[in-house]
Amino acid sequence: MKSTPSEILDYRCRLESPTSVGRSGVSQIYQTHVIEGEGHEILRELFPQLDNKLLNEYDIRNYSLKTELRFFVNGILLNQNLTKDIEWLGADRFTLETVLRKELCLKFENQIEWKCNSRVTQLIVDQSSNIVKGIKYRCKQNVGSPLFDMYGDFIIDCSGRNSSSTKWLKESLNLIVPTVQMHFGCGYVTFVGERFKTENPTLDSIPVICSTVNAPDKNAGCYIIPMRTIKTSDENSLGTLAQISIHCVNSEFPPNDSYENLLEWIKENLDPDYYSILKSTKVYSPLIPYRRAIDDRRYVESLGKKWPQNYILLGDAMCTFNPQFGQGMTHACRQARGLAKIFAENCHKLKDISHVFNSRASAISEECWLLSTTNDWKTPTLKIIKTDKNGQTKTYQRNGDFPATKDNQLRLPLLTKILQWYIDSFLKCASKSGQLSTDFLHVMNQQASIFILFKPTILFAVCYTALMNCFNLSK
Ligand SMILES: Cc1cc2nc3c(=O)[nH]c(=O)nc-3n(C[C@H](O)[C@H](O)[C@H](O)COP(=O)(O)OP(=O)(O)OC[C@H]3O[C@@H](n4cnc5c(N)ncnc54)[C@H](O)[C@@H]3O)c2cc1C
Repeated sequence: MKSTPSEILDYRCRLESPTSVGRSGVSQIYQTHVIEGEGHEILRELFPQLDNKLLNEYDIRNYSLKTELRFFVNGILLNQNLTKDIEWLGADRFTLETVLRKELCLKFENQIEWKCNSRVTQLIVDQSSNIVKGIKYRCKQNVGSPLFDMYGDFIIDCSGRNSSSTKWLKESLNLIVPTVQMHFGCGYVTFVGERFKTENPTLDSIPVICSTVNAPDKNAGCYIIPMRTIKTSDENSLGTLAQISIHCVNSEFPPNDSYENLLEWIKENLDPDYYSILKSTKVYSPLIPYRRAIDDRRYVESLGKKWPQNYILLGDAMCTFNPQFGQGMTHACRQARGLAKIFAENCHKLKDISHVFNSRASAISEECWLLSTTNDWKTPTLKIIKTDKNGQTKTYQRNGDFPATKDNQLRLPLLTKILQWYIDSFLKCASKSGQLSTDFLHVMNQQASIFILFKPTILFAVCYTALMNCFNLSK
């Protein structure tokens, strides 16, 4: 937390020991992260000085989605005449976390004790009353070191996508948490680069350029998001350092062995505009791959009162999503705000709080899950692993080339099929409508529920347009 802004940037570009700055254990931290509208709002409420510090001390800029974004979703360009503006922060995750931690320490000073370089290894429970009372932890560097106990009135497992909670609950309370994992062959290559002028001034004038994949037709996408403004005397420079993420589904991974090979891949797999931008980008960091992202949901709410008291999962520990919609951090922020609200309501007994939280938090996860998985179901080689409440695990695989056996055939749920059709039809309408594009971005930024896309007037307009197109009646 003592690092200067330039040390953080330097570190981000050179990738030295992860313990020297930022934090260890979050391998995805090098990848592009967007903090969505609602997450940004929650952080601003908690830390009113956050934006000011990021903008004035760390050369971060904020971006107006109304004037500074070009966004292709499922191959369709959102309309740029948004009816309301949404702001994105162009902060890389190292900078955001460093500033957040400093703010946290300023706000709570002596009330926090940090245990660094430690790993939780199991829960301390009282089996007869179904309560989690604490955790056991040990020093990370030394696997054989002794275990320490830590007790708490309320324990929050926010240990991320690789959380061992399901294993711990099975070991200590013989509780099986039903889970669903969707493997859609997600792959990322991210780097930091300085953008230079292309031959197209319109392209150069847009700082935030994003495109999601459009499976099964186009299984690659790209996010270009500025992270710092820089002073330069080079008149061809656009004066920003950007985080650039090339991503894919269906295991069609972008190469990271050399920039030349990556550019060749981009030429073949992405829209020509990306090739011209990236051809004129100067690369400042290694090309960092990430290939472990999956959709992974723990259905904690389905266990009702079997779930232990005084213990919850929060953020990725409860549910992780396809990163392309940038939902994860905001999902965690919303769940944390939900938890604070439950305590503030002052009407729940401590023993009930984990159950109240599970049912409210899972509703937040469900919204993000729907947006993420509706698209991921389109992946030709999708694999789904389901574990039920008896611990029975079944793997279903769809493989383009080989017919699956009857038992492990993947059947697209009817609701998902309808949602896929509806979202694609909605996006076609949104490309012509500033209002619908604004609605979509509000949902994506978690400022509105996905259900606003189904308001009767919108539903009617989308179905009407789809019918007209279907029968070729529209002019
Ligand atoms: C490629 C990629 C791109 C992404 N892009 C975005 C984006 O643009 N926007 C967005 O909002 N989200 C994005 N995400 C998702 C985002 O990274 C996560 O949703 C978010 O970090 C979840 O926060 P968390 O606090 O739940 O877990 P994490 O940030 O993963 O933190 C978990 C912490 O727990 C610690 N820990 C783990 N196990 C133990 C243990 N046993 N004992 C002690 N500590 C432990 C880890 O060291 C770590 O510090 C992306 C993810 C990936 C993979």
